Amino acid sequence: MRLTDERELRFVLYELLDAEALCARPRFAEHGRETFDAALETARQIAGDLFAPCNRAADEDEPRIENGRVVTLPDYQAALDAFFEAGFGAAHVDAGLGGMQMPWTVAQACFSQFLMANVAAASYPMLTIGAANMLAAFGTEAQKTTHLEAMYAGRTYGTMALTEPQAGSSLADIRTKAEPTGEGDYRIAGTKIFISGGEHELSENIVHMVLARLLDAPPGVKGISMFLVPRYRPDGEGWPTVDNDVRLGGLIHKMGWRGTVSTMLNFGEGGDCRGTLVGEANRGLGHMFHMMNEARIGVAMCATMLGAAGYNASLDYALERPQGRPAGAKDPASAPVPIIAHADVRRMLLAQKSYVEGAFALGLTCARLVDEQATAEDEAARREAHLLLEILTPVMKAWSSDWCLEANRLAIQIHGGYGYTREYPVEQHYRDNRLNPIHEGTNGIQAIDLLGRKAVMQDGAALALLRREIMATVEAGRESSGQAGHAEALAEALDRLDRVTATLAAHMAEDAEAGLANASVYLAMAGHTVIAWIWLRQALAAERGLAAGQGGEARDFYEGKLAACRYFFRWELPTTATQAALLESRDDTCLAVRPEQL
Ligand SMILES: Cc1cc2nc3c(=O)[nH]c(=O)nc-3n(C[C@H](O)[C@H](O)[C@H](O)COP(=O)(O)OP(=O)(O)OC[C@H]3O[C@@H](n4cnc5c(N)ncnc54)[C@H](O)[C@@H]3O)c2cc1C
Repeated sequence: MRLTDERELRFVLYELLDAEALCARPRFAEHGRETFDAALETARQIAGDLFAPCNRAADEDEPRIENGRVVTLPDYQAALDAFFEAGFGAAHVDAGLGGMQMPWTVAQACFSQFLMANVAAASYPMLTIGAANMLAAFGTEAQKTTHLEAMYAGRTYGTMALTEPQAGSSLADIRTKAEPTGEGDYRIAGTKIFISGGEHELSENIVHMVLARLLDAPPGVKGISMFLVPRYRPDGEGWPTVDNDVRLGGLIHKMGWRGTVSTMLNFGEGGDCRGTLVGEANRGLGHMFHMMNEARIGVAMCATMLGAAGYNASLDYALERPQGRPAGAKDPASAPVPIIAHADVRRMLLAQKSYVEGAFALGLTCARLVDEQATAEDEAARREAHLLLEILTPVMKAWSSDWCLEANRLAIQIHGGYGYTREYPVEQHYRDNRLNPIHEGTNGIQAIDLLGRKAVMQDGAALALLRREIMATVEAGRESSGQAGHAEALAEALDRLDRVTATLAAHMAEDAEAGLANASVYLAMAGHTVIAWIWLRQALAAERGLAAGQGGEARDFYEGKLAACRYFFRWELPTTATQAALLESRDDTCLAVRPEQL
């Protein structure tokens, strides 16, 4: 999969997910394959011409403070302006609001090109679109009128301000306060840390979506509300010119993702920071979670596209780097071969391909579910899409960020010593990608969410639905002579997942801490099972493509899909058997070890 490779995008969008079928729905009736392809082409062009060239420079020249202002790389302005001018900030938004009214699936496919080219630059619109979507869902008419159009057009950027120094994973412990002013708004006071895009000069204004507590709020998560806090308040004529007392406490210097400014923000140092309530009081976390599925798909796509960038770079390198001779070659004077001739290097390439293309197809499958959830014809189908998304989201966020990071590790390994230098891009991919298992809920927290909530909610309804979807693919696989063995292996893995879920559910009912102690292994096992499902679907689509009799590059493309599917089933899926044995034995090694023993 390459930045300029339309083939992969076409395969996933049209041959796997039938994105064109969405055009039959009234919301997307103005669209067709031509408009989708034109948008993808524009995205590829802007990403290639403006985002990719400053990816390295932004890593080397991170944001700094000059004369009290945050200075970002000048090239970022041109790249981001082009992004918004081309309409990508509002790709999914109603035409009436100036948007393109595209399916989320196609909007995400377009956005993937920006993520691959320069994940740090793409973070600004990603955060802005996320904050705007939250406002569209829960904001008042006044909030929407003032901010929405400006956000989708890129005049105002957005942030998500959740984390505090003492409250990261445990948002129940946030302390930022909101006190009614008696004028319809609230006085906000508190400190937030790690806020991405928290201060810069890239846009006319910034709106922070801040989690805070009302003075009389109950303790814990049931007392958290969400507030819209602008950097500048409107003046008498409605222009955002009045300083809103949001102070930059400092910049955070990171190992990667350096082009995105990371800030510590102090709200209300001078006692005059004003915010307005978004949605209902004390329901802020619920509102935030409402948008979480989309945000977590976004993080998984960041991880995936960084994995893809590393795969591309290491594939190019392996084709060009001459080193060594085939194991059986006797003549030391013979020419060295490119390292791709060594099976161990091909192993590392195939592993990356299986992780990255598996994660990409899962990412767009989830994006397709977002479209189903919003536009499927009947209510039952919309509910099912929602339920499937509920269970797939933690899997996708954590699996993609763990395994596409592993892909980046392999990309460095293929480069040998050169991969460890700053002369090649793969070390930056690795550093950038290392964030993804941490933010937007650490992968440990995703695992607890999957096992403790999603797998058992509504008497296991989401897992049962996932089983139904996977079994439909298994049945189709059984009809194919090439995939029947994979279909059986997937059915067995699914049975294992069911058995383990039942064991752990019983364990959790007896003792929640013990039952959840090995949740990360459960997520890894569920993730490999889901990705095997995605690979079987890709293999069946590839077989259809081959049966249509295409030759040359198309044939190589489809056969590459079959090879990566085979790799995943032979090398990766069997690890779920070991994981299942560990989980079914209710192993308590990690639970029992005492801090003094470590
Ligand atoms: C570059 C960057 C950008 C970020 N951007 C934003 C942003 O824009 N907005 C924002 O609000 N936040 C942002 N964050 C914050 C991020 O979401 C938090 O760092 C993350 O949620 C983890 O919180 P923490 O760092 O306090 O770690 P902690 O919560 O202290 O966790 C430390 C470790 O303990 C584990 N752990 C914690 N609690 C449990 C538990 N109950 N059970 C099992 N294990 C547990 C975690 O999994 C982790 O491994 C960003 C962070 C970074 C590094």
